[in-house]
Amino acid sequence: MADDLFPLDAPFDRVSVLLPLPLPGAAGGAYDYKADPDWALARGDVVEVPLGKRRVPGIVLGPGGVDGEPIAEERLKSVLRRFATPPVPDAVLRLVDWTAAWTLSARGSVARMAISVPSALEPPPSVLLHVAVPQEAWAPDARLTPARRRVLSVLTDGPGLEPRDLAREAGVGSSVLKGMADAGLIEIHALDPPSPFGAPNPDLPGRTLSAEQRHAADHLSQAVRSKGFSVTALDGITGSGKTEVYFEAVAEALRAGRQALVLLPEIALSSQWLGRFAERFGVEPAVWHSDLKPKIRRQTWRAVAEGKVGVLVGARSALFLPFPDLGLIVVDEEHDGAYKQEDGVAYHARDMAVVRGSLGAHPVALVSATPSLETVENVKRGRYQAVHLTARPGSATLPEVDLLDLRKSPPERGRFLAPPLVTATETALAAGEQVLLFLNRRGYAPLTLCRMCGERLECPNCTAWLVEHRLLGRLQCHHCGFSGRKPEKCRHCEAEDSFVASGPGVERLAEEVLARFPDARFQVASSDTLVGPDQAAEFVRSVRAGEVDVIIGTQVVAKGHDFPNLTLVGVVDGDLGLAGGDLRASERTFQLLHQVSGRAGRADKPGRVLIQTHAPEAPVMQALAKGDRDGFMAEEARAREAAGMPPFGRLAGIVVSAPDGARADEVARMLARAAPRLDGVDILGPAPAPLALLRGRHRRRLLVKTRREVNVQKVLADWLGPLKLPNAVRVSVDVDPYSFL
Ligand code: ADP
Ligand code: ZN
Repeated sequence: MADDLFPLDAPFDRVSVLLPLPLPGAAGGAYDYKADPDWALARGDVVEVPLGKRRVPGIVLGPGGVDGEPIAEERLKSVLRRFATPPVPDAVLRLVDWTAAWTLSARGSVARMAISVPSALEPPPSVLLHVAVPQEAWAPDARLTPARRRVLSVLTDGPGLEPRDLAREAGVGSSVLKGMADAGLIEIHALDPPSPFGAPNPDLPGRTLSAEQRHAADHLSQAVRSKGFSVTALDGITGSGKTEVYFEAVAEALRAGRQALVLLPEIALSSQWLGRFAERFGVEPAVWHSDLKPKIRRQTWRAVAEGKVGVLVGARSALFLPFPDLGLIVVDEEHDGAYKQEDGVAYHARDMAVVRGSLGAHPVALVSATPSLETVENVKRGRYQAVHLTARPGSATLPEVDLLDLRKSPPERGRFLAPPLVTATETALAAGEQVLLFLNRRGYAPLTLCRMCGERLECPNCTAWLVEHRLLGRLQCHHCGFSGRKPEKCRHCEAEDSFVASGPGVERLAEEVLARFPDARFQVASSDTLVGPDQAAEFVRSVRAGEVDVIIGTQVVAKGHDFPNLTLVGVVDGDLGLAGGDLRASERTFQLLHQVSGRAGRADKPGRVLIQTHAPEAPVMQALAKGDRDGFMAEEARAREAAGMPPFGRLAGIVVSAPDGARADEVARMLARAAPRLDGVDILGPAPAPLALLRGRHRRRLLVKTRREVNVQKVLADWLGPLKLPNAVRVSVDVDPYSFL
């Protein structure tokens, strides 16, 4: 790499600049530009360069002629200017390269995640403050009117005021201020705007930790102090205080003057987490996710780059922020599928967090009550360390989990709660306790069909049923966002008013709750009802305040929440996640149901969990009932190893898509014909993807399965790189896929 061959700070007259654009090719978005040696451009500097008729930002990688596409001297264009922003740290540049190479993405596409807020590259406008000129410096003829005296008295003892505030507080007009400035009584100072981020205080008292919590916290703190790379799995049962424990490591990073990054899978809905952070550190942390308002986004990016953010909590994309001195990354709920990005650069934030840690030489903590098989195996092989929390603080215990066999005690027709769950709910409500009914299905019903001919309402753009959302009065596709009204007449048999709902969603379950427990106050919690941080915070507040008796929730309520009076969790359809049958279906089901079970009995009242299932004998159900996580994971590991599946072998998914099916078939077959025949490499397919039609594009899938030691990226690059694709056909590659749709 360029940075090993050249001193970083030598003045270059030609520099290689990485543009944040999806440009393919070996240079992956890096181009040479002429540079004025006096500017002394260095690696990481963010500059503006011409590209065709546009001006775009880019990151200096090093001297020209090394990294970028070769360009003849006479065609070389000049760097236009350098942005007044700190350089992108070397660890981030190397993370960009790493991620691009791992995911087979254009480097520029990844660079775009690092400089994701172009407007933040400009320093924010300074604020103008009026301050009083000391009396000794006044002109001899300075005249003081009552209005001028009021202005001066408002300004005593303060850092200064913005003109508007000063005029208001002193009760004067702007002409008075102008006159005073002309007379040399006050002057204007231009200052950097104050940072909206307070400094977290690591030394506020935390909770008194139990012995095992102390041990875990000391281990992580020691890792932070050692300032070297390490990965530790913080493996603790739900409610065991993992958050309290990693807060200690965050505090240690702050004490060392370094920054800390905490990744959470569902940050927009994590008001409770923010509250706990504020309690421990005195201020709220900086937050990063895709729904930030533009101004906050700009301020946050800039403050991170300038090292003015002590702790940032964010979604996966926070990993690419240009932290200049990161001392710790915590990946909370590390097993969560939300860490995998499916579109564009298909990276896994947990894995790239580990890479970031090794490039930045700092520890990474992977936190979970149900560690992923990947993490479990890495601990077993000694690559990762592990610390364990085995008990809940105080008198809280893990809830008892029972399976409810739907074949033996089915719900009544058209209902979804089996009698034992109804009884348990009644008992909990009678005792004044709260109940969570978990059903991971948004809307009213997953399927709407014609009762005369069986016709199903499907999305016109996708291979998917339309989901009825009765509150909105619409049918929606959860894949492409298509939405329409329920037709009055069946297209197929022309029967009128013949469409009926099939299967439950949370809205339909709410109907049943209302019918069965008319006095209970219930609340539906899904991504449709908790659409942003404010609604999520209000939901949490109302549950904690005891204003809700029954929560009817999807996965948005499965994790993180701490509701002390919640004692019963009813899982309405335990088999739901197993249906697709992909590689991680049972692992994910175990994690999700274990996680949601962990919402019960977190305080002094014991909790109970009832899982409705058609297959109580399935290993995953047995493991949940017995609380045998390790046994389940060991069995899962054996099965995957026998099949040569990740993490024991490697997988890559290839999706060919085109507006017409024949085109997609043709290209998929062409790929198959060109497929490499290599030892340890199996290529499966092509076959129509389960989502054979998505957003109007026809999709075909191939799956590459290799032995662990095979460099799957190289296999893919050698195979797909030389192929010429017809227009309108796209081939997307997902190394280590989590979705097989
Ligand atoms: P986890 O992240 O493992 O699910 P949390 O950190 O959310 O667990 O802790 C669960 C609950 O127990 C929280 O309300 C937390 O404040 C409380 N808690 C954790 N550790 C202690 C402790 N040492 N003393 C008192 N309360 C604690
Ligand atoms: Zn659709």
